[in-house]
Amino acid sequence: MASLGFKQVIKRYGVGPAAVQVIHGVDAQIHDGEFIVMVGPSGCGKSTLLRMVAGLEDITGGEITIGERTVNGIEPAKRDIAMVFQNYALYPHMSVFDNMAYGLRIRRLPEAEVRARVEAAAKTLELSALLQRRPSQLSGGQRQRVAMGRAIVRQPQVFLFDEPLSNLDAKLRAQTRLEIQKLHRTLGITSLFVTHDQVEAMTLAQRMMVMNGGRMEQFATPEEVYRRP
Ligand code: ADP
Ligand code: ADP
Repeated sequence: MASLGFKQVIKRYGVGPAAVQVIHGVDAQIHDGEFIVMVGPSGCGKSTLLRMVAGLEDITGGEITIGERTVNGIEPAKRDIAMVFQNYALYPHMSVFDNMAYGLRIRRLPEAEVRARVEAAAKTLELSALLQRRPSQLSGGQRQRVAMGRAIVRQPQVFLFDEPLSNLDAKLRAQTRLEIQKLHRTLGITSLFVTHDQVEAMTLAQRMMVMNGGRMEQFATPEEVYRRP
């Protein structure tokens, strides 16, 4: 676990006269183990911020920190983050175990360590009995849990969620939301979760980052954000 800090973070896309600034100095300190939901209209810079934390975009100005460490310039694989995407496709020809193990094996972790991590994640996600199944033999909810398992086995300090529920039907969305909530209670990993959905924000967020036009307009609890005057 680690804190996640934004210090005067700026992002420009492009160079020279064609450059466009899309993030205008975001400042926020997210505590160890905190669950933050980021909301804001389309194009306000949510994905850009997540991608800068993940190292998928350069940080034009300012600083992003994970724990004590500045991540500016550090390659994505060394940032101790895991990202859960909208369409985290599982490999259909691999077992649940192999799906979860894949990323670790690519990084050449010893097989005993791979097994230990996959089994621990499976236990947390109640997938232990399903490790030899193929994705096609799982329910939608179980598949979602395997997708989360692939992120957990990385043992990240920070979880980044880029609208992971938005393509699911209502039932599976609710189910997966509860699963994420439970996971956070169990593991307490610092989380930054982007969504458009007010129910998700209300139920998941300890605090919310409300973005607008590349600026952070509010950083407050859901009660404060949704309080009607
Ligand atoms: P959100 O996730 O809130 O919808 P984004 O971070 O995707 O917003 O986009 C923020 C702004 O940056 C938008 O104006 C978008 O058009 C622009 N943008 C995003 N990616 C690029 C890119 N690769 N090149 C140029 N502009 C981009
Ligand atoms: P995968 O199993 O998705 O192929 P790898 O461990 O092979 O993952 O990683 C390939 C690259 O993609 C690395 O730079 C890694 O940091 C990045 N990466 C893979 N999965 C994630 C994830 N869930 N979150 C963040 N980065 C990831």
